[in-house]
Amino acid sequence: MDFNIIMPVRLIGGENCIRKNKEVFGTLGEKCLIVTSKTSAQKSGALKDIEAALEYNGIEYCIFDKITENPLASTVVEGGRIARETGADFVVGVGGGSPLDASKAVAICAENPGYGIRELYNRAVPSKALPLVLVGTTSGTGSEVTGVSVLTNDLDMTKKSISGADCYGTVAFLDPKYTYSMSYKVTISTALDAFAHAVEGWFSARRTDLAAGYGRMALPTIYSGLKILLETGTLPDKALREKLYYGSIYAGLELNICGACFPHTVGYVLTENFGIPHGRACTAFMPYLLEKAKIYEPERYREFLQLLGDEEKNIFTIVDALTDIKTLGAAPEQVSRWCARWSGVRNFENSPGGFTNREAEKLLNSLM
Ligand code: NAP
Ligand code: FE
Repeated sequence: MDFNIIMPVRLIGGENCIRKNKEVFGTLGEKCLIVTSKTSAQKSGALKDIEAALEYNGIEYCIFDKITENPLASTVVEGGRIARETGADFVVGVGGGSPLDASKAVAICAENPGYGIRELYNRAVPSKALPLVLVGTTSGTGSEVTGVSVLTNDLDMTKKSISGADCYGTVAFLDPKYTYSMSYKVTISTALDAFAHAVEGWFSARRTDLAAGYGRMALPTIYSGLKILLETGTLPDKALREKLYYGSIYAGLELNICGACFPHTVGYVLTENFGIPHGRACTAFMPYLLEKAKIYEPERYREFLQLLGDEEKNIFTIVDALTDIKTLGAAPEQVSRWCARWSGVRNFENSPGGFTNREAEKLLNSLM
């Protein structure tokens, strides 16, 4: 079995892990830029813990809180400029996947003054980047452990990721308590994203035994959590929050090795054009992925059902109910235009039995 994996993030986890390891910030420099979004850093309590750790180490900091959902590439370029102007030695990304992904690109832009949007997308990898601390507040993307940053390219308003050794954090603090403040809706959507990572990774053509090991941890953990969320219809208790958070990290570790399948790519269309949150946008295409997996990867499919400990029809029902996408409206010509942008997509090649633009068009039309 051949593999070539880079996983350079120091992972420090557990309740109050920032308070217990505050001296770690002192090893990264004397000034930093905190990159975040509108509310999650405050609501989750993560900002308060980070500020206390920075103050303990005598580190000066500025806060750049302009990151929106599906972060714009132009905003991360601006963040990079502010990091340089304020003399930041390192960056701290805090919030959901959007600010974490944005902070990775800010750390790169900070060290590369000539970078605009085009340069960032076309850079030689790895490019220089400031050291980066990641503190997640959702239980979905696993961005804490992936070498990926998903941005919206302002030049054509499509979601497009950058990846490479320069897209990893230096240290990630993994504390499930920062996810307690998520609403039920965000909890569902982010848990579906984590489930999509675990499922797409499980059936990916690039799966290795190591990735399958993470998949065996992620799949039952997240699926049992999703079932409880649907059955109770209420916010999870502390134990379930913890389970969903670490489940998202296992799925992120899996995804980081195998990459995603077609739902992650086609799902972007639903987010870009209908504002459907990323997790639900991906699981909208999961039933079709599973149908293909059953045909092209029967052994993996059998183990998948065993791991979930549920019948096939229940899995489809649960995913469908939580994804909850009603008919969307777009003309077939519009759908064809969306699908024309894909050529040689790795996530299509990764999918069981492969995946074509024609299939994408058919699937999207069925939702319109
Ligand atoms: P998000 O876009 O970061 O945040 C979604 C919403 O949840 C926002 O309204 C946010 O509020 C709120 N929120 C976040 N944490 C909260 C908390 N603890 N309490 C209360 N509200 C909270 O959501 P996400 O699903 O984590 O990230 C999605 C992005 O990650 C997408 O762009 C997706 O493409 C990307 N992604 C990246 C990877 C990767 O490997 N890097 C993998 C999959 C997906 P505020 O905005 O006000 O803070
Ligand atoms: Fe995702």
